[in-house]
Amino acid sequence: MYDQILVPTDGSDTAEEAVEHALDLAERYGATVHALYVVDTNAMSLSLGGEQLDRIEQGHYGEMDEVRERAEKATGYVADRAGELGIDAVEHVSAGRPHDMIANYVAHNDIDLIVMGSHGRTGVRRALLGSVTERTLRSTRAPVLVIDSDNE
Ligand code: ATP
Ligand code: MN
Repeated sequence: MYDQILVPTDGSDTAEEAVEHALDLAERYGATVHALYVVDTNAMSLSLGGEQLDRIEQGHYGEMDEVRERAEKATGYVADRAGELGIDAVEHVSAGRPHDMIANYVAHNDIDLIVMGSHGRTGVRRALLGSVTERTLRSTRAPVLVIDSDNE
């Protein structure tokens, strides 16, 4: 049923909790885990042109060292945890609106399950779901497992 599991991660504690659920399922199903970090062009103060977005997709960050660091830390965490458990993992970084890029990745990589956090880095706890999770639910027909963090 589940062969390709996507964990979109912004590197937050809640996303890291979702990673544990994704890995447990991957282990049971013999699935591959895909870690996706989206450089959020909505949230960035500097506005990036289309060319720069393409370069990020190809792993060329130029002067954007901080962007690279944050992206690689988030996906690297998933790859490291997967490696410890002997689970196949794929890391990917893209740039754009997170829910669009998540839906896009799902469509192009035969993803059959998405596992993500209820909240992320910028979350207001009062809201039931963060905006990326809410928009992802509206943007894809793939099943989505939402992990609520117990950190208040
Ligand atoms: P908001 O961003 O709406 O202020 P928030 O940061 O608490 O609130 P979301 O951004 O919706 O909540 O984060 C929920 C989950 O979505 C995270 O745990 C993570 O799984 C995923 N996510 C959020 N941002 C990204 C991103 N830039 N790239 C990949 N996954 C992300
Ligand atoms: Mn967020």
